[in-house]
Amino acid sequence: MSTREEYLEMLREAREQLPMTIVSGERFTPPKPIIAIEGRQTHVVNFKEIANSLNRDPKLIARYLSKELGSPYFLTEDERKLILSRRIDPRQVENRLDRFIRTYVICPHCGRPDTVIVKVRRAWILRCMACGAETPIPKI
Ligand SMILES: [Zn+2]
Repeated sequence: MSTREEYLEMLREAREQLPMTIVSGERFTPPKPIIAIEGRQTHVVNFKEIANSLNRDPKLIARYLSKELGSPYFLTEDERKLILSRRIDPRQVENRLDRFIRTYVICPHCGRPDTVIVKVRRAWILRCMACGAETPIPKI
């Protein structure tokens, strides 16, 4: 196989490991967050489902939201739910999650979500599996 064929093969394999929602349609529609205020806490009920569809570590997204929303958090043991220890307007949570997706998932060059985060020395880079672009991103 030529180098290019090897590269394409690698891309194909990487794509196969992505959740179906990402590969199938042209439009990327991750599940909308289901948010419930429980007493003094804010629960993102379908957090794991969202993380899976974004192909990102739930802990990374949780850390980002916690920083952005200024609230301590914890994940349930199965990482299914994110619990923020403050009451937060659900629209704020949705808004920050959108921002996460735009910065840490969607490739700014081709608009596809088939990306991975790679850490090169101290820098974080969003690497696109579709077009090959590499974009520096802020650390979380
Ligand atoms: Zn791209």
